[in-house]
Amino acid sequence: MTDDARPAIVWFRDDLRLADNPALDSAVATGRPLVLIYVLDQFSPDLRPLGGAARWWLGRSLASLARSVEAKGGRLLLRRGPAGAVLPALAAECNARAVFWNRRYGAAEIAVDTDVKSALIAGGVEARSFNGALLAEPWSVLNRAGQPFRVFTPFHRTAAEHDVPDPLKAPAQTLTGPDLPSEPLDSWQFEPRQPDWAGGLRETWVPGEAGALARLDTFLDEGLAGYALGRDRPDLAHVSRLSPHLRFGDISPRQILAAVRAAKAPPGDVAKFVAELYWREFSYHLLFHFPDLERRNFQPRFDAMAWRDDPDLLAAWQRGRTGYPLVDAGMRQLWREGWMHNRVRMVAASFLIKHGLIDWRLGEAWFWDTLVDADPASNAASWQWVAGSGADAAPYFRIFNPVIQGAKFDPHGDYIRRYVPELAQVPLSAVHAPWLGGTQLRGAAGCYPPPAVAHAEARDRALAAFEAVKAAG
Ligand code: FAD
Repeated sequence: MTDDARPAIVWFRDDLRLADNPALDSAVATGRPLVLIYVLDQFSPDLRPLGGAARWWLGRSLASLARSVEAKGGRLLLRRGPAGAVLPALAAECNARAVFWNRRYGAAEIAVDTDVKSALIAGGVEARSFNGALLAEPWSVLNRAGQPFRVFTPFHRTAAEHDVPDPLKAPAQTLTGPDLPSEPLDSWQFEPRQPDWAGGLRETWVPGEAGALARLDTFLDEGLAGYALGRDRPDLAHVSRLSPHLRFGDISPRQILAAVRAAKAPPGDVAKFVAELYWREFSYHLLFHFPDLERRNFQPRFDAMAWRDDPDLLAAWQRGRTGYPLVDAGMRQLWREGWMHNRVRMVAASFLIKHGLIDWRLGEAWFWDTLVDADPASNAASWQWVAGSGADAAPYFRIFNPVIQGAKFDPHGDYIRRYVPELAQVPLSAVHAPWLGGTQLRGAAGCYPPPAVAHAEARDRALAAFEAVKAAG
């Protein structure tokens, strides 16, 4: 085999797209035959297994990528095993010249990539990595002292000064290469069967690159103008719902940024939306610089928190039966669609942590299993933010009243009625606090429960517990 005939391998991970994919683009630019692979790695140490909803998304997104690759004359190989063994073995099998990938930022993922790189280099194979997931690399955004940021606003100011390259187009060339053995996607069993709980996910989402671009277009047409105010209203369609597409890299933040900046929308709405993209960047910044984010309190004084053990309340929260309609609507939206509106995520998380005094890690784990956008950086950073244990966290004395939050952000009760059928016929006067209305709540959809905890007592209990932690720290 001449050197020119030696293939370039592209290792897909959280970048399941052809457009704006720097690793793919650079591999294509070599002019070599291409070997495109996704490795299902359930074996490398410390990698957190995906939750059920995210596995469903991954399966669909891989199927979409495989179709796109086939349309360009290529084939997406699927193999299972520890990446540190699979990649060097594949490189040897096809006599590859180089392997290209886009970076990940969790400690376990970085450890895997470092192993793969060493093994490839030891075997005489070039290894090249790229930024395909972030607007700026976490190590390039530092404060004047050369330290990572712990507060969003200065992080945002500094990060936004970094030029963001224009997104790359999908390669025009074919993606052909040697024919190599691949596992069937079905054998990875990403679709739940018994029971099949994914009906709501299938109705709601179109995972994959084409689905992401269609969702972006819809958002630009219908959601972006009015985003700054509308983004807090779960009853309206003002948010993009791009989060699961970003999580799996069906689309890149650079593509979204470029499209939003080019859109004809009020500058205030564009600026607010772009700031949210930088919240995602900030989460990755924290994950990279503080790799224990999903396991350990960012502020160690929270290690002294006297969390309660309350399996009944945890189960009521998980099943959307706390008796607080906004919390329950959110938890049921999560169960049905694998996604929850951001405002409701904050209220639901706050309820578990503050009304329940239940360790944020239990909530984080439930979201990890049930969210299609379950993200190693944003999920952990957001849970810690709500708990008050995180960087730049919500003040501990902010204890959302779920009734007031409901009245403010779901003013007509439409969101609640959509997800809590027991309350479908309840008048607006009672929909946020049904126990006060004296309304008969036993309807066709069953009986809606009374509040699992009384707000005022729970608030006092939480304040005392959080103040004790503050005093100790
Ligand atoms: P839009 O409002 O359209 O925002 C556009 C994009 O900006 C989002 O897709 C997301 O990538 C980013 N973004 C927006 N808000 C935030 C934020 N607060 N933090 C970080 N990035 C943000 N987001 C996840 O992607 N994965 C998670 O696992 C996750 N877990 C969360 C857990 C809790 C307890 C809370 C309070 C928030 C969590 N978020 C998470 C952040 C946020 O709720 C979602 O990103 C957002 O609701 C996604 O909807 P969207 O795409 O319509 O957002």
